[in-house]
Amino acid sequence: MVIIMKPGHTRKELDRAIQEMEKSGVNVMISRGSETTILGAEGNAAGIDMEKMEALPGVERVMRVSEPYKKANRKYHPDDSVVEIAPGMTVGGKKLLVVAGPCSVESEAQITGVAQSVKDAGAQALRGGAFKPRTSPYAFQGMGYAGLDLLEKARVHTGLPVVTELMSTDDIGYFAEHVDVIQVGARNMQNFDLLKRLGKVDKPILLKRGLSATIEEWLMSAEYILAGGNERVILCERGVRTFESFTRNTLDLSAVLAVKKQSHLPVVVDPSHASGQAWMVERLSLAAIAAGADGLIIEVHNDPVRALCDGQQSITPDQFGTLMVKVGQIAACVGREV
Ligand code: PEP
Ligand code: MN
Repeated sequence: MVIIMKPGHTRKELDRAIQEMEKSGVNVMISRGSETTILGAEGNAAGIDMEKMEALPGVERVMRVSEPYKKANRKYHPDDSVVEIAPGMTVGGKKLLVVAGPCSVESEAQITGVAQSVKDAGAQALRGGAFKPRTSPYAFQGMGYAGLDLLEKARVHTGLPVVTELMSTDDIGYFAEHVDVIQVGARNMQNFDLLKRLGKVDKPILLKRGLSATIEEWLMSAEYILAGGNERVILCERGVRTFESFTRNTLDLSAVLAVKKQSHLPVVVDPSHASGQAWMVERLSLAAIAAGADGLIIEVHNDPVRALCDGQQSITPDQFGTLMVKVGQIAACVGREV
């Protein structure tokens, strides 16, 4: 971090700025020119409050010269993180992770049926929401704990580990015992209470990108979990809100490349929520793998027309089977495997 003092600042103002920086443990380097004085922080400047510095008398401007995320930063962890999601199953290595299943758990027959079909087609994990973040309070809110029970039955039936969304800090204990991968949805990406608590949980966390989150904000959310001591974070690009209304969101594939450059964490892509349209899911999945994503999370429903949530973007098990074959071909082209 670099602090530029105002021309004509006083000695007292300079000392105050230096003192403020030193409070967070950095070494302060002072460069005095004829017009102005510049202070540079040597060491970990993450603890310096930029806004507070900027408000100090005599301070002209505060600039960051390194990223505010440290634990998520590839600079300090050059190798890709390989995150274990179940015994012997990882994401972030050569092998891609494909998670598939319905938006929501609706019944035992539905979830075990879809679980079996996606497993047969090559999915390694099952998705399904039991607690649903819906825009309308009158829309189906998910089956809650009964839905988690059904996911466990589907896991017993198929052996697939389960990925499901947590919305409330109240449920963390239960999720930590009964779920394999805890999903933080787009709407909760900046629920810092939730993130802090998940930093203390011994389960992998699938952290979806917020509806309008910048890459830096997304990585800072990951930083919350990592800073708490939980190193098993998987990022998920699920499209961001733009001016375009043809698609539900705009899939930001360049974010996959950016995040993989800036961070060592694995990144998966959710083409279902990104596009909101079933017919786009296959091509976007292939593009995501070609772009270097470490995996996919895809909504698959046995009967999309009757789905209680997100039917329009759900593909059928047959379509998922075709998609998996093509994903395998693209994976081979980019040195990956499914
Ligand atoms: C979901 O996965 O069903 C979901 C609600 O996703 P998102 O948080 O990305 O909207
Ligand atoms: Mn959904």
